[in-house]
Amino acid sequence: MTVLMTETGRARGRGLLALLVLTATSFAAVAHEPFQGSLPLGDGKRSSAPKVGALYGCPLPPGGGGAQAAGPWIKGATWVPAEKAVVGGDVAWPEAKLEIKRVGGERIVTGNALPAHATGIFPVRPSEPGYAYDRNPNRIGPRPFEIVLPTEPRPAAQASCVGGPVGVTLSGVVLFDAVDALGRDAPAHEIQDRCNGHPQRQGLYHYHGFSPCVPDAAGAAGRHSDLIGYAFDGFGIFGLKGEGGRELTNADLDECHGHSHSVDWDGRRVEIYHYHLTREFPYSLGCYRGTPRRVPGLAGGPDGHGGPGGPGGPGGRPPPR
Ligand SMILES: [Zn+2]
Ligand SMILES: [Zn+2]
Repeated sequence: MTVLMTETGRARGRGLLALLVLTATSFAAVAHEPFQGSLPLGDGKRSSAPKVGALYGCPLPPGGGGAQAAGPWIKGATWVPAEKAVVGGDVAWPEAKLEIKRVGGERIVTGNALPAHATGIFPVRPSEPGYAYDRNPNRIGPRPFEIVLPTEPRPAAQASCVGGPVGVTLSGVVLFDAVDALGRDAPAHEIQDRCNGHPQRQGLYHYHGFSPCVPDAAGAAGRHSDLIGYAFDGFGIFGLKGEGGRELTNADLDECHGHSHSVDWDGRRVEIYHYHLTREFPYSLGCYRGTPRRVPGLAGGPDGHGGPGGPGGPGGRPPPR
């Protein structure tokens, strides 16, 4: 696989200033301890306005699919991640590609949405324990895309709703919001592999929140987490840890699941708004703080698996402007 991060500067007037190539080995061995304990279930926590701890979701199109039965790890109003079935397998994606270029005030992100790490085997095989709950019948495939983001995004006058894909991570994988096509808590209900990913109807492999397969060296070392990706409004998405290496909760973040303080941003120390992942719903963005850009090539629209439990989401809807 290839991950390129390049920086093209106008100041020098010519071409490439920096080139960083990350190979698949950068993503290979990621130590992580499975979260022990239970989390509040996010079902019913979609909201029609920005709200802390909720997902300000754009209206869901009709006809969504997803998990067909609730697993035993869902216990009333809570769920226990460590008890959830995990899709097995170790499928490599050597053709995975991600390139991030900075040109003037724009960050151009191109890739094919395949992961820089191995995945489980999809469609979910009948022999898998998770098959009884979510028979995700989709096959992972490349989804070429190009995203042009501002390098210095500013908060919009009003926050806007999220629906489906909300950003792209440095493993090349697209990050979706917290819910499935029926508006339920996706990480709680949907069967995923050990990287917390799975494909939707058009074959797009994606996460719905934290993935132990996206490196966060600073977070692991007890500091503020590293940047793990970019939201479609241009703001950064960082890992689970805030200042001082303390794991963040919704109470530390605003309605859109972010906050402002100094972070490393394009090689400088800058006070800027940024999102964080948390263990609890809505896991990543609760809304867009900035103005989301269109993302040609990526199916928009909410998650849809098209399993026997439902016809699946239609996709094709771009994020709102
Ligand atoms: Zn922070
Ligand atoms: Zn999904």
